[in-house]
Amino acid sequence: MAEIRVENLHKSFGTFTAVVESNFTVRDGEFFVMLGPSGCGKTTTLRMIAGLELPTSGRILLGGEDVTFKRASQRDIAFVFQLFALYPHMNVRKNIAFPLVSQGMPKAEIKAAVQEAARLLRIDHLLDMPVSGLAGGDRQRVALGRAIVRRPKAFLMDEPLGALDAEFRDMMVHELRGLHDRIGATTVYVTHDQMEAMSMADKIAVMNHGVVEQFGTPQEIYDNPASTYVADFIGSPPMNLLPCEAALQPGATEIRLDGRPIAIPRLAEAAGSIRLILGARPEHVRLVDEGGLRAEVMGVEYLGTTQIVTLSTSYGLVRARVSSGTTVRRGETPGLVFKTERLSLFDGANGRALR
Ligand code: ATP
Repeated sequence: MAEIRVENLHKSFGTFTAVVESNFTVRDGEFFVMLGPSGCGKTTTLRMIAGLELPTSGRILLGGEDVTFKRASQRDIAFVFQLFALYPHMNVRKNIAFPLVSQGMPKAEIKAAVQEAARLLRIDHLLDMPVSGLAGGDRQRVALGRAIVRRPKAFLMDEPLGALDAEFRDMMVHELRGLHDRIGATTVYVTHDQMEAMSMADKIAVMNHGVVEQFGTPQEIYDNPASTYVADFIGSPPMNLLPCEAALQPGATEIRLDGRPIAIPRLAEAAGSIRLILGARPEHVRLVDEGGLRAEVMGVEYLGTTQIVTLSTSYGLVRARVSSGTTVRRGETPGLVFKTERLSLFDGANGRALR
């Protein structure tokens, strides 16, 4: 079992707090992604799990064992850094074998372990090649081979694909996830790229200024963002956020937008007159000829099967994802209708989702 549990993890550097009372559990074999902008505390959290940084308070449990004060070398965790450095004068086999050789493992065992790592990465045919002659993708695979050959309890990866160009990164995203499915080792992966997170993760923690804003599956986070921060961070383009005023009774099922009633999911917490933010994903906004919220088409981005229409409304800009079969022209003034059962509602004062 290599479940990773983080309990009330807190890290201050002097007066600056980088990680605030963090709590999450990564189950054995899960691919967990910490997502957030630069400086939100992802790397600091990862370094504490690795044992490279001591928490100010809180605990870290690995497979049920408290490792908070254990050294990095005693945790049996592999840390994969952004830049995969290889030993250029060694061939593939020797590069992969290196961590085991330095551990003093018997030769026959090393041979078997390297063979198995190469098989999992599908680079068996390259074992006797010099690494200097390898293409970029294969170099990355060799570097991964060096991380997986030790069969650690867990992998920690800090923006491992950050330095790659977009096309290559896309390929490696699927490669890494495929490798994870074959190995099944618990993985904690740090990125600021929501597309990477959404395509790889079993679970995501969205971080904001050292705080875990939301923890959940990609679908939970996409469909039910816990705050406007998460709603705005996830999705491309992100969720439309429309500020509005509403007089709400507890259990209200309707708000008014532009004088028109809009049905909303029943709210348990709502009361009185409050500022609200209505959240609608672009694919849940429809363009209609008659009725709806008045809007003017400002721009159209053609994406192949769909197109993103940017519209100006009295609530600000709204983006709608419509089928590319629909003809939409700049300057047109359609109405906007929201798929009400898919709307999100946030408290206008603090941006938290109202449920
Ligand atoms: P990035 O993607 O830029 O690495 P991040 O989300 O991983 O961002 P961290 O590296 O964890 O963020 O840093 C969080 C905050 O803690 C930053 O403001 C950073 O400047 C600060 N910080 C990190 N390490 C130290 C340190 N050793 N001393 C002082 N401040 C630090």
